[in-house]
Amino acid sequence: MSLIVQKFGGSSVANAERVFNVADIITSTYKEGNNVIVVVSAQGDTTDDLIEKAKEINPNASKREMDMLLATGEQISISLLAMAIEKLGFPVVSLTGWQAGMKTDSNYSNSRIRKIDAERVLLELDKRKIVIVAGFQGINRYDDITTLGRGGSDTSAVALAAACHADLCEIYTDVDGVYTTDPRIVPNAKKLDEISYDEMLELASLGANVLHNRSVEMAKKYNVNLCVRSSLTRAEGTVVKEAVKVEGMLVRGVTKDNDVARISLCGIEDTPGKAFRIFSLLAKKSINVDIILQSIGRENKKDISFTVAQSHIDEALKVIEDSKDVIGYENVSYTTKVSKVSIVGAGMVTNPGVAAKMFEALYEAQINIHMIATSEIKVSVLIDEGTEAKAVKAIHDKFELA
Ligand code: ADP
Ligand code: ASP
Ligand code: MG
Repeated sequence: MSLIVQKFGGSSVANAERVFNVADIITSTYKEGNNVIVVVSAQGDTTDDLIEKAKEINPNASKREMDMLLATGEQISISLLAMAIEKLGFPVVSLTGWQAGMKTDSNYSNSRIRKIDAERVLLELDKRKIVIVAGFQGINRYDDITTLGRGGSDTSAVALAAACHADLCEIYTDVDGVYTTDPRIVPNAKKLDEISYDEMLELASLGANVLHNRSVEMAKKYNVNLCVRSSLTRAEGTVVKEAVKVEGMLVRGVTKDNDVARISLCGIEDTPGKAFRIFSLLAKKSINVDIILQSIGRENKKDISFTVAQSHIDEALKVIEDSKDVIGYENVSYTTKVSKVSIVGAGMVTNPGVAAKMFEALYEAQINIHMIATSEIKVSVLIDEGTEAKAVKAIHDKFELA
């Protein structure tokens, strides 16, 4: 008997018909003799709608209260799905994140799972019940409800798979698998049969929301058998695993991220310790910094620019402005009218010229590059907001990924 975790995203359970479609996938798996743990997201646009509702009342609501509200979306899905499975005549139980033992830290709205006390889940499986768990949510040490960040249900699923030693974790969504780029932007994007954890982690972190980046991090850490597939077509999906063949495929995928803002500090004194000051102040506030660019000093002054998520811009500017004397700079400027486009591929390490080819594609599309960042398996550029779709298409064509 195998243990299979199946996760269904919001569009897969958007209405009654979809709920029954999903119930059919689950009960078929169960009938084959497997134990099944199911993780579900909130239906359709429920989470966005709840955020709008909150804004009507208080645009500056505390993160704790936001988590209390947003977690309700998943609670609707688990109960409705359990009712559908009951109707089909199968034993089932729905559990909230906390009933399933999902223990997180207290970083409201973006919590990390600390551990899972899976006794209840395992007990229900022993009774041969289908166990349906609310994704995206957990509980902290004060018994408060927390959420894992947008897209976090994927992480709930992989964490449960790891904690319960599942044989397989299937992420069902509204596309057939992981593509060379978002198929909604580039219709001739190609589905990948497999992708390595490292490549998928970069793609997810750089904006491919098909998987939550922490879910991939966790799958790699605990060696979870992970696949992404469609709940609608049920076609063979994409397997995410340790190592895959790289020959002939330098670039595995292209991705974009609009949730980017650039901050520039100009006229910083050109002495040791400045970068340390700036970035340690930001780190203390848990503000993630991505691309960093420092100019060569001239006349004893230098400039440092960096990018953060748009949701962090106000907090980051406050830290910088409050510490003007400590850091010592002449002025600070920022813009949110930028986007990041990246290429990812394990084959890049051993092949020169990949970045040049990406820049050539951007040049041919007449797109100006503001900042560049590279690692062994990715190249990212910061460009003007509004040009990212054109950039993704141009790069995708250049590397002949279709
Ligand atoms: P779910 O609600 O099932 O979690 P998401 O909307 O979070 O679904 O993720 C699926 C979406 O991810 C797809 O509809 C697609 O538009 C987008 N996406 C972005 N990049 C990629 C990619 N490289 N491959 C597949 N889908 C991608
Ligand atoms: N419902 C949450 C969201 O919309 C979590 C998820 O879908 O994974 O972000
Ligand atoms: Mg998602």
